[in-house]
Amino acid sequence: MARVYNFSAGPSMLPEEVLKKAAAEMLDYEGCGQSVMEMSHRSKTFDKIIKDAEQLFRELMNIPDNYKVLFLQGGASTQFAAIPMNFMNKNKKADFIITGQWAKKAYQEAAKYGAARAVASSADKTFSYIPKTTAADFDKDADYVYICMNNTIYGTKFPELPEVGNIPLIADVSSMFLSEPVDVSKFAVIYGGAQKNIAPAGLTVVIIREDMLGNEMDITPTMLNYKIMAENDSLYNTPPCYTIYMCKLVLEWIKEQGGVEAVYATNVKKADILYNYLDSSSMFSSTVAKEDRSLMNVPFVTGNEELDAKFVKEATAAGFVNLKGHRSVGGMRASIYNAMPVEGVEKLVEFMKEFEKANS
Ligand SMILES: *Cc1c(COP(=O)(O)O)cnc(C)c1O
Repeated sequence: MARVYNFSAGPSMLPEEVLKKAAAEMLDYEGCGQSVMEMSHRSKTFDKIIKDAEQLFRELMNIPDNYKVLFLQGGASTQFAAIPMNFMNKNKKADFIITGQWAKKAYQEAAKYGAARAVASSADKTFSYIPKTTAADFDKDADYVYICMNNTIYGTKFPELPEVGNIPLIADVSSMFLSEPVDVSKFAVIYGGAQKNIAPAGLTVVIIREDMLGNEMDITPTMLNYKIMAENDSLYNTPPCYTIYMCKLVLEWIKEQGGVEAVYATNVKKADILYNYLDSSSMFSSTVAKEDRSLMNVPFVTGNEELDAKFVKEATAAGFVNLKGHRSVGGMRASIYNAMPVEGVEKLVEFMKEFEKANS
């Protein structure tokens, strides 16, 4: 069977070149007679893999030297607890902007460990926009301000960072990791699960400014203690070795594309193709405020549930898979991460045009 265009929100497409390279190296990684899957995480060969992955992250994201790059497990959802345990321990309070389910889950989890406060929310309009805030909205004594920068389910993205003064800013970038240039120095912590944009599931990358470390609550489990993970270069216990290797291959691929700037230019092009059609179609429409639209996750609807279902069914048969929207939004959602080629979006729009013609 030919490869499909996979619009899944995650796990999601990986670059075909990366999959081919991984396949070619599966049985014998660089002449060492074994697969990366079988290798000791303490071996010289794996040590080079994890160090190369970190170096590539530093290079591609322009990460300042006073930040640690951690390769962890547990997904973004585990960090929802680790973040308050590690950082909500000076004044025991933190401010949250609720822009969707993932921000809300992080907020609810933090509320178990301290005074979590929802500063603003877009729940009133099904999270279809990013609420505006000013520095005055935040508690100057908050241990941090938390945002989810790209909202995978609702298809919004912060068009600019909230102004938070000197309060440390923490961001979940799971669904936009390395999709556009980000100024890491604006964040105290920036993190995400790998399975949307940078690797298969199983890896969570947490980038932390060093001065944030060492203030964890006494109850913090060793495995959720960022300081211990940093002191052990993410090798306190067995890390997700194979996923880290896959991540390294994806980072090399991004570098070959010309780096994050080049990937971003392609992402803008892909998003423009889709949004321009949605804005001109009389059948399909975007569900998101124009200025807050995500480049990665594009929800859309026909306004008729039966027609939505018919579209998803016919699209699947034509090789455009996983277009069904999240159960909380309905309709459709096209996730067009870094690995989705421009051609995939062009062909999807062609298909949508034909569907519109045939059904109106
Ligand atoms: C997918 C996703 C999560 C949850 O990630 P897990 O790795 O499944 O825990 C959290 N935040 C965002 C923005 C996501 O897209």
